[in-house]
Amino acid sequence: MRILISGAAGFLGSHLTDLLLAQGHEIVGVDNFITGKDDNIAHLKGKPKYSFLRHDVIEPIKIDGPVDRIYHMASPASPIGYVKHQVATMKVNSQGTWNLLELSIEKNARFLMASTSETYGDPSVHPQREDYWGNVNPIGLRSMYDEAKRFSEACTMAYHRERKADTRIIRIFNTYGPRMDPYDGRVVISFIRQALNNEPITVFGEGKQTRSLCYVSDLVRGINLVMESDFHEPINLGNPEEMTILQIAKEILALIPQSRSPIVHMPMPPDDPRVRCPDITRAKQILGWHPVVPRREGLGKMIEFYKDQLVKK
Ligand code: NAD
Ligand code: UDP
Repeated sequence: MRILISGAAGFLGSHLTDLLLAQGHEIVGVDNFITGKDDNIAHLKGKPKYSFLRHDVIEPIKIDGPVDRIYHMASPASPIGYVKHQVATMKVNSQGTWNLLELSIEKNARFLMASTSETYGDPSVHPQREDYWGNVNPIGLRSMYDEAKRFSEACTMAYHRERKADTRIIRIFNTYGPRMDPYDGRVVISFIRQALNNEPITVFGEGKQTRSLCYVSDLVRGINLVMESDFHEPINLGNPEEMTILQIAKEILALIPQSRSPIVHMPMPPDDPRVRCPDITRAKQILGWHPVVPRREGLGKMIEFYKDQLVKK
């Protein structure tokens, strides 16, 4: 198949590219590098089945030749990233989604939209099932991301219902692995960077808030299965092993025994969800998917990846 991936120079987009190239498909990567990096796709240059288009998907997109699948992964994804790029985040999840849905109609291509667990906000149902509508502050400090993703889901369903677009929606929960931006503030990469550099590990609040961490290879395998399934409503993808942020800090420190980093507590950011854990019953039933990489192994691989490049000399 010929597959277009928006956000192809990002963390998830680049791993998804590797998976789909390994399956023998032709990939057209699209990115404007607002949060992505050339380093993430440097290994792909010169591959015969890979091409790259520098383009902002907020602008209409023109692609020559057929397109069979569109994975819409483009969007700033970290709290630091989307607060820095508020308007761009809202636009890529509205106008950007719109443009790629139009392309899917034009090319008769199947379309998948990367949504997020943030659509559940600070959830009052726990773990989160797909039929829970969420608890989101529409003007809060995360609203440019979570409300935009909610709009993007609505837009996808409108094209599906009215225009008969062949669409899929995934709600991704916290995912970690190599190629995360070391300075985008997301918790796992921040703690690994801090521990490798003997800097204080910055736990926000008391660290009692919870997250559930999915390794990137599990996640992209799930994304591909959703695309090739026949299900149009949202599917949660994530690892249901829930832990507190303080536990995550301690676990990372235990995996970097030479680290002299102390754990320090910083003020809790506003609107930070207190709990988050996916109910993945739907993914299990429809896709036969569940995560298989143990956290220790995933964190170990990630530490190995960053060990040399991050340590300040
Ligand atoms: P990332 O920032 O590493 O990658 C996003 C990519 O999209 C970047 O390369 C960026 O330059 C590109 N991009 C942004 N706006 C664009 C535009 N207008 N035109 C073209 N390219 C654009 O983030 P990620 O972690 O790889 O996230 C990928 C997708 O998955 C996002 O949609 C994000 O909301 C979603 N998601 C990720 C997670 C996670 O834990 N990683 C969790 C939930 C949802
Ligand atoms: N967090 C933290 N210290 C950091 C970065 C994040 O304690 O240096 C916490 C943050 O408050 C949140 C959790 O870790 O409760 C996950 O944050 P992240 O930015 O990775 O993603 P979120 O799930 O909030 O979108």
